[in-house]
Amino acid sequence: MRAGALRRVGAMTYDESLLDVAHRSAADWLRGVAERPIPPRADVDELADSLGRDLPERGEPAPEVVARLAERAEPGLIAIGSPRFYGWVIGGTQPVALAADWLVSAWDQNAGLRKITPAVAALEEIAGAWLLDLLGLPAGADVGFATGATTAQTACLAAARDEVLRRVGWDALQEGLAGGPRIRWIVGEERHGTMDLAARYLGLGAPTAVACDDQGRLCADALEAELARGDGPAIVALQAGNIHSGAFDPFADACRIAHEAGAWVHVDGAFGLWAAASPRLAHLTAGMAAADSWSTDAHKTLSVPYDCGIAIVRDPAAMRRALSMHASYLQATEVGADPHEKVLELSRRARGVPTWAVLRHLGRSGVADLVDRLAGSARIIADGLARLPGVEVLNDVVFTQVCIALPDDAATEALSSALWADGEVLAMTSRWRGRAVVRFSVSNWGTDAAQARRTVDAVARVLAGLSAASG
Ligand SMILES: *Cc1c(COP(=O)(O)O)cnc(C)c1O
Repeated sequence: MRAGALRRVGAMTYDESLLDVAHRSAADWLRGVAERPIPPRADVDELADSLGRDLPERGEPAPEVVARLAERAEPGLIAIGSPRFYGWVIGGTQPVALAADWLVSAWDQNAGLRKITPAVAALEEIAGAWLLDLLGLPAGADVGFATGATTAQTACLAAARDEVLRRVGWDALQEGLAGGPRIRWIVGEERHGTMDLAARYLGLGAPTAVACDDQGRLCADALEAELARGDGPAIVALQAGNIHSGAFDPFADACRIAHEAGAWVHVDGAFGLWAAASPRLAHLTAGMAAADSWSTDAHKTLSVPYDCGIAIVRDPAAMRRALSMHASYLQATEVGADPHEKVLELSRRARGVPTWAVLRHLGRSGVADLVDRLAGSARIIADGLARLPGVEVLNDVVFTQVCIALPDDAATEALSSALWADGEVLAMTSRWRGRAVVRFSVSNWGTDAAQARRTVDAVARVLAGLSAASG
């Protein structure tokens, strides 16, 4: 330990060399993350054995704990930050966001109350206003920082549920749901599964799913026909960015149809909402701003560290009616103004701060460049893969998702397994429109044209190995 690095304040001992240990091992990780094989090398049992399963009777010095953590966890870490990681929809971390996130942990502000943690409230309010501006959403909308798109959309749907009931004279806050009018809850067949989950938390039951076209876009006429089948309170969920095709629902028509029927419209734009921040891609989101609420993630496209989702509701009063709570000990600012009244969490980390940092760092043009880079790299990957023997690109590559298949499902699944074993590119299998597919979700800020071309070369190499092995 360096002399003078120890500060002692009563029982609180703070060893500055501890953060140096963490910093060194974080730097080692970051230096290697783009080149190391992507999958983990050890499984949970092996890692638990190595970490040590027994609770120590006597504690260990903190630097030893952190050193053990860094060293023994490493074989079990997956290189999510790799620019050739295409699994699920997973963003990497921009360095500026990581640095801001470290400060968030050091500051340890409980970000629920404006009067108590004004610095983080100011940062999050600025970031929220910037987001509305970048995404072309109404300036007066309320913005809440949640743990992810799932909880963000749950917050939005809570506002939707209570508001559509209130409009027909049912006070869900007092009466609950039992005995009240049933809410018609309508989605596209290809909505993300977390929409169902959010609705389940809220007692909305299973959705009615309307037809989608061959790219997974909800069909506006199918929505119109479904809404015409009944009346009463209704919520319609649309999607900006289908996880298989990247497609966007026809917002202008769908919003008009839903609003004519008195429905609340929510847009799940966990990654696709960001198309609105690019002048070249904003056309994909045309009409989206007419909705009533929107949810997205900052931990995907915007590349802040896990976790950060964003809940946006046009009518702040509806959001606060659903999510406010008051207790005299909280020192609330004034009814409805505090950050905790826009999300499900009361106590929470200041997770909007890394979002502020990355927006400040990139600026409007940098965010547009980021989104364009991801979509451009998806295009390069799709064009390159389409030229490989047996590979078919199944979707219109309008945004950041590429779905490919080989002539039969077994071969497609074998490709995904072989990529995993090889480790240079990670792309996972899924099923879409009745076929096994391998999805390439371009979501990492480091995936530029060079990485996209390297990805095509690696897939070509792995495919050639597979066909050599099979015959
Ligand atoms: C990732 C995703 C979600 C869920 O987001 P979480 O941050 O994992 O909670 C919802 N919808 C879509 C379209 C997604 O891609």
